[in-house]
Amino acid sequence: MPQEISRRTLIELSVAGTAALAAAEARAQRRPALPKDQKIGFAVVGLGKLSQGQIIPGLRSARSAKLVAVVSGHRDKAARIAAAEGLPTDAIYSYEDYDRIAQDPRIQVVYIVLPNAMHAEYTIRALKAGKHVLCEKPMATSVADCEAMIAAAKAANRKLMIAYRCHYEPKNLEAMRRIRSGALGKPRLVVTDMGRQADPSDPSDAWRLDRKLAGDGALGDMGIYGVNASRYLLNEEPVEVRAWGNTDKSDPRFATTDDLIAWQFRFPSGAICNGSTSFNYNATMSFEVWGEKARIRADPGAFYGGNHFAMVDGGNLKEIDTPEVDQFAREMDWMADVVRGKAPLVSPGEEGLQDVRLMKAITDSLARGGAPISTDWGYKRAVDPAAVVDIVA
Ligand code: NAD
Repeated sequence: MPQEISRRTLIELSVAGTAALAAAEARAQRRPALPKDQKIGFAVVGLGKLSQGQIIPGLRSARSAKLVAVVSGHRDKAARIAAAEGLPTDAIYSYEDYDRIAQDPRIQVVYIVLPNAMHAEYTIRALKAGKHVLCEKPMATSVADCEAMIAAAKAANRKLMIAYRCHYEPKNLEAMRRIRSGALGKPRLVVTDMGRQADPSDPSDAWRLDRKLAGDGALGDMGIYGVNASRYLLNEEPVEVRAWGNTDKSDPRFATTDDLIAWQFRFPSGAICNGSTSFNYNATMSFEVWGEKARIRADPGAFYGGNHFAMVDGGNLKEIDTPEVDQFAREMDWMADVVRGKAPLVSPGEEGLQDVRLMKAITDSLARGGAPISTDWGYKRAVDPAAVVDIVA
């Protein structure tokens, strides 16, 4: 009976087969939703694809977070969405009157879902308005902007979390736990491939191909999942990187940004990561971790849902079975719990900065024809997701 499985018993069980038990236990422990008046109020800034398709629906089903305001440059769209979500008209803000959120006690957290180059400005303005911030990845388009965001959060004494949904996703968590437990033996090699075809006729992709708004192209949009995954899977930080690229400059999509980049990270344990990203290859968000004894294959490993993880030992393949969750609701609930003082900040600004610094090292190496670049600047994550995030809240 899942209710009878104590945490201690779980720890004592062998790793094989614990995923289902852990999931069952977690399901049994799932906490009920808070009453609406106790939920943390979120303002969503930018009402594009992700906000409309995932974030606002996620807030509908969140346990401890709720939508209380929207910020948009399009009044009609904002009014339509606000009406559909039952928000009053005074909960609609434009980019011009955004700073008025300081006087709106309904808003505790501001979720930045804008093109990457706008993250820093809107994060810092929200922090100055006294709000906590959840900011989409990549955190910003430069190391200096990330540092300014972290400094602004410190000055305002407010929380700054980067929206790394995979830190809260059950299959990724289970993979981290199995690797930490030694079930694969010593991890030797990680391979991450994250990319897709970009479509410039889609406004949501047009800015992603424009360096001014996106910073890096495929790397900042998709490759970042691989950069982050190699770090959370191995639970260590790369000390050296080298990278090669292949961008067809006759393809009008790549007038200002890079297309294919392949990199290698060297980790202190000796593990190596081969990463790739592209806006001109068949869509994938996959990774694989080879240990001495077994490997974990995740394909896909970072989709919004339907991720497929398996433990592979020679010819034997065993599915990793964990429950499907709404990753966006989970992540926003986690942020709400951070604000309520009930959960540690697992994905702080420093995590976002580390990825931006590593991506800068990748592009520096690329610019220098694959020259090795040291990334041994001593960063260590504050909190291991595998140690604190339950499979299901
Ligand atoms: P989108 O283009 O669909 O939405 C962006 C919104 O910003 C639009 O509503 C647009 O009107 C608004 N905007 C304001 N100023 C703009 C400008 N100057 N140019 C273009 N748009 C402007 O993009 P999206 O897919 O919703 O992505 C938004 C952010 O979310 C990005 O940072 C992206 O990396 C991130 N994202 C994260 C995930 C995830 O899984 N965590 C998935 C998709 C996107």
